[in-house]
Amino acid sequence: MPNKRKVAILGATGAVGQRYIQLLQGHPWFEIEVIAASERNAGKKFKDAANWLMTTEIPKEIAEMSVVNTDVTSVEKAGKVDLVFSSLPGGLAGTTEAEFGAQYPVFSKASAHRMDPDVPLIIPEINPDHTELIKVQQKQRGWKGFITTDPNCSTIGLAITLAPLMQFGISQVMVTTMQALSGAGYPGVASLDIVDNVIPFISGEEDKMETEALKILGSLDGTSIKNANFKLSASCNRVNVKDGHLESVFVKLDNEPSLEEVEEAFTNFKGAPQKLKLPSAPVQPIIIRHEENRPQPRYDKDAACGQAVVVGRLRKDPIMTLKYMCLSHNTIRGAAGGGILSAELYVAKGLA
Ligand code: NAP
Repeated sequence: MPNKRKVAILGATGAVGQRYIQLLQGHPWFEIEVIAASERNAGKKFKDAANWLMTTEIPKEIAEMSVVNTDVTSVEKAGKVDLVFSSLPGGLAGTTEAEFGAQYPVFSKASAHRMDPDVPLIIPEINPDHTELIKVQQKQRGWKGFITTDPNCSTIGLAITLAPLMQFGISQVMVTTMQALSGAGYPGVASLDIVDNVIPFISGEEDKMETEALKILGSLDGTSIKNANFKLSASCNRVNVKDGHLESVFVKLDNEPSLEEVEEAFTNFKGAPQKLKLPSAPVQPIIIRHEENRPQPRYDKDAACGQAVVVGRLRKDPIMTLKYMCLSHNTIRGAAGGGILSAELYVAKGLA
């Protein structure tokens, strides 16, 4: 078991930052040393800076901890850290994460660096070998540390279900999302915009889904990623649900597997986190529900402590080959839980 790493959380007061704080309680490999947020909250105790949104209590020591400004000097003054979890807004993450990445391993939930050719975009079950890109990054940028990223929250659920279908030859994917409110952060979407409503637009989301999945399912070709070779079309909607992104997926395959073969591929899908027995790994990354009306966000988002993707309504499609619904918890598997699993992978591989 590795020595406990001391971590800083950037964006600690936000929807994802709070989830990091909750999930890192009692973590065997990581302990929180520094929490950072905006200048507005720097100097305040965490309990006065954050509107705590989790259903568990604020951990006592975190409640009393002072929030610091989000820059390397302020974080270093507050404590000695080994690695950094970033849940900063996308616009800010570009330069700030680069400042930290020059010295520290940075595990980012923001979009800013996801598509940089020398930055890994990791789902540990799918592409653990892409972590090798950090060596290219460190060489090119002259950094001691690195930036590694996790996908957008709606991409994670989709990509995990596409990975076991790659063996049947994916040629086209169409996906329509029904995304939870916590995906927009806090305070997020105004209540008067979303009560009694569905908003058929999430800025930038469709573009992220259409590009990120191809990088994740692509292959490491020496020093760069060769994208997966299929077409993906996404249509994204915000719905009046607190947590859990539900997605309606249509896939065209080159082969015609039976539904039993597809279900077996989903059920047997496992990767490095399961082999390495990483502390946050779900035993089974994909859980199948057979009821005609599942998965549902309210009942299924917490499957395997929110780290599994729940698939249901698997059926043949008369235009494409297959269709199914998938659901994943956007602030756990889609955010902090996924970020922690990635960090566990890097530690287990001796890279962080
Ligand atoms: P959020 O609730 O709005 O939280 C944003 C965090 O960033 C807060 O801690 C905030 O601190 C901090 N921040 C804002 N402006 C800052 C500044 N100028 N300097 C330093 N810190 C600043 O957002 P979120 O939902 O947690 O999302 C965080 C990131 O994760 C985003 O990039 C988002 O796209 C990504 N993400 C979110 C989800 C999700 O389900 N929510 C899933 C995957 C990825 P203050 O409280 O001090 O303002």
